[in-house]
Amino acid sequence: MARKSFLHGRFAHKERGPTRRTQMAEHHIREFLIKITKYYNLRCTYCNEYSELHLNERMSLKIIREFFQKIADGVGPSQSDQIIFIWHGGEPFLVPLDYYAAIGEMQREIFQDKIPIVNGVQTNLTVLTDRHIKFLKSKQFFTRLGISFDPYGDQRVDLRGELRTEIVLSNIQKLIDHKIEFGAITVLARNTAPYARRIYQFYDRLKVRCKFVPFYLSSFDQQISDHALSYEEIVNSLNEIFDAWISSRTATPVEPLDDYLDYAIAYTAGRRDFRFDREANEYSVIVNLDGGVWAPNDTYVDEYKYGDLSREDLNEIFNSRNRRIVIEQSRKRQSDHCGHCRYFGACPGNYVAEASPQQQELLAVQGCPVQAVVNHIVETLDRTKLSDSVLMCANSNASRNISVAHAG
Ligand code: SF4
Repeated sequence: MARKSFLHGRFAHKERGPTRRTQMAEHHIREFLIKITKYYNLRCTYCNEYSELHLNERMSLKIIREFFQKIADGVGPSQSDQIIFIWHGGEPFLVPLDYYAAIGEMQREIFQDKIPIVNGVQTNLTVLTDRHIKFLKSKQFFTRLGISFDPYGDQRVDLRGELRTEIVLSNIQKLIDHKIEFGAITVLARNTAPYARRIYQFYDRLKVRCKFVPFYLSSFDQQISDHALSYEEIVNSLNEIFDAWISSRTATPVEPLDDYLDYAIAYTAGRRDFRFDREANEYSVIVNLDGGVWAPNDTYVDEYKYGDLSREDLNEIFNSRNRRIVIEQSRKRQSDHCGHCRYFGACPGNYVAEASPQQQELLAVQGCPVQAVVNHIVETLDRTKLSDSVLMCANSNASRNISVAHAG
């Protein structure tokens, strides 16, 4: 499955406590998005891995064992309080459940009780049998579930070009009926962006946390012109989602607006103590089927490849020449863009620090879309006189997130 996971980075800034305001010399990567298969049963037209979705090999247990061993050797308990694996594809539910049970056994054997292990899965939810329900409910392996679904926009077509929306809706109902918690991710592309508000409202009604990912990546040029959004479209869609959130009685948190709201609150409260440094604060990497390791936004760009888990150990990968170059480029971008931004420090600058090649182009030509959305949030808080409540909230030290108060 091509889109990034709902779960990816989901817990990052909440769990980055120690690194949030201190700059550590060592890496802090705890989350591994594993491309267990490329095989996929849909052909979403914006998919950035469209050309590989027919490949039906899967990561072998032997390779997975080697990866686990290297991760166990390379991430000690002093660096991390848990390791998160997010099983990704392709479609990870096309891999038999027994396979995941065997992986769980392997994790218990290799990691033992040295480091807590968390397993999440990101699925398109077109496959959900009774066995899947039982497996998910048991929490014997997956304890976090993310679904990828665009309720509007007609992008989710199967190999015959037929829409799978009804099947996914029915499977969402099954999850709800069985009280299985999940989050959702939706791609903001040409066909879905006009429905941004409705998509948020759909998840808000279900009280399901969702994450919107603007479309930037591409596997072939036509895909860019067909599906990629302009700077204005991205900013307008995100502003519209924020407006839907703030006027909702339920106000279910939505990413990335939940983070951007944090930045606006910190800015309003005069806080400037939150700066992201890629070397110390980078949190996630993708491990491709063949062992290649990238930061999620740089996937498959040769010069940004950190290394190869099939040949190198974790320390070699995280201290590789390519990663050093990526870190230096990231710092330069932050200096060029965030250095002049009034929000820097309230906003950590991670959008710029972790920008994909496509996002870098956007930054160079039109500037930072996060800045424009945070502008909108700050203006909205001022206009609606919510700034005072925000300041109370921020100063109370209880939380930098007013969504809870707003929902009440
Ligand atoms: S330029 Fe963008 S990413 Fe950088 S601090 Fe400003 S809003 Fe944040």
